[in-house]
Amino acid sequence: MTEKWNLSAAPESTSHVELQDTYHLFINGEFRKPKSGKYFDTINPATNTVIATVSEAGKQDVDDAMKAAEKAFPAWSKLDGKERGKYIFRIARTIQERSREFAVIESLDGGKPIRESRDVDIPLAAAHFFYCAGWADKLEYAFPNRSPKPLGVAAQIIPWNFPLLMAAWKIAPALACGNTVVLKPAETTPLTALKLAEIIQEAGLPPGVVNIVTGAGETGAAMTAHPIPKKLAFTGSTEVGKFIYKAALDGNKKVTLELGGKAANIIFDDAPIEAAVEGIINGIYFNQGHVCCAGSRLFVQETVYEEVLSKLKRRMDTFIVGDPMDKNTDIGAINSKAQLKTIEEYLKIGREEGAEIYQPKCNLPKTGNWCAPTLFTNVAQSNRIVQEEIFGPVLAIQTFRTIDEVIDKANNTPYGLSAGVWTDKGSKIFQLTQALKAGVIWANTYNKFDATSPFGGYKESGFGREGGIHGMEAYLKFD
Ligand code: NAP
Ligand code: MG
Repeated sequence: MTEKWNLSAAPESTSHVELQDTYHLFINGEFRKPKSGKYFDTINPATNTVIATVSEAGKQDVDDAMKAAEKAFPAWSKLDGKERGKYIFRIARTIQERSREFAVIESLDGGKPIRESRDVDIPLAAAHFFYCAGWADKLEYAFPNRSPKPLGVAAQIIPWNFPLLMAAWKIAPALACGNTVVLKPAETTPLTALKLAEIIQEAGLPPGVVNIVTGAGETGAAMTAHPIPKKLAFTGSTEVGKFIYKAALDGNKKVTLELGGKAANIIFDDAPIEAAVEGIINGIYFNQGHVCCAGSRLFVQETVYEEVLSKLKRRMDTFIVGDPMDKNTDIGAINSKAQLKTIEEYLKIGREEGAEIYQPKCNLPKTGNWCAPTLFTNVAQSNRIVQEEIFGPVLAIQTFRTIDEVIDKANNTPYGLSAGVWTDKGSKIFQLTQALKAGVIWANTYNKFDATSPFGGYKESGFGREGGIHGMEAYLKFD
């Protein structure tokens, strides 16, 4: 029996963070009151208290942002790549310098553990700006003999699970390639994008090159229906992705869609089991399971099933769930009340489908949105908890005997974003990476990200790649 360590609280200080009560829209290089006259609150999901009031961009505001981006495009796209790169490097450096502040705001607004925003989200966001800045004057080398040219204005819509990181994935390659952008963060996590707008203003980017409009789905819909953007870039659910795709077809726009997933994480009996257990934990419980590439379907070879299950449960018993601002916390708050309701609904569905549930004992805080890490055993391929994306800390475990069987089972999903393979044998890794229909496959690791490496899916997980030079290609046209 593993004891949960009785650690003293180690809260990250919030005293260095500067937040305003009210945030305006970032259009044409300045913060403007919304013409819509509407505002909404952004909430701290760990306490369900209001952090700040944020503007809701209406159609007129979106139109202003698009026109500002259109006006800024000719000069920005003609600017020497080296000069564009300097601005992007400046953004990257400032994110690094202010990384503590960004990490705290990310955790306050979105509920993720400070350790994750500090060690993953913010450094990776800076890395994407650094990486793309380096290519800004070398596009001719990245795409030899193809004369790369920017597209124009890009409309970019992002979700709430990695707010600053998703903004970086979108803005950095677009700018490096000479495009201008209008970006909308998700309704529940707008603050780090607005902080990024402050940095962009400080970096002296020409007005209109980056515009950040806040709001909910309606604001996003106004962006995608707008005639100005030549490119729509979306990360979010498959459901909304289908609307975006239609808008792109109607408006003859280029489009990339990074959508949902239901990844298989496959453990063979020759895998290093202790490492695999950590990989399973990281695969599904990182960021409360609000991860599009989460390893939410676990496949364990029958011969090691009992061992893996008991080690997994023992590891889960050590989890510290609670205050995202505490540096010891492993699992923070569920991002919103709505998402918690969705997850709880799936927990109910799982029980009704006859699955067995395991949750470690946790002292969940009294206020805020919380869900204990969960695993389901005794599940069937056809169960909804196996087929549908839950986007929470919920794992469904199945077993297999042969390679062919696990390939069939792993590919039995409408999604195709990612997968994990744990084995001692390189040949098995190669066989699976060929056979699995997934955009990203990790071997003996999971949830590893790098600015140089492309990320994206197949089937209902969308298309197009972000990261690496593949990610920049999506913001270029070629003669
Ligand atoms: P979502 O509901 O699809 O929202 C994504 C973004 O689209 C948000 O900014 C949202 O605004 C906006 N939006 C909503 N309705 C819209 C419409 N009709 N037209 C234009 N924009 C609209 O997804 P989510 O629940 O925020 O995020 C979770 C999903 O994202 C999961 O399915 C996950 O797998 C996926 N995801 C994928 C990746 C990837 O790289 N493949 C990465 C992260 C997340 P509001 O939120 O403000 O309403
Ligand atoms: Mg919030």
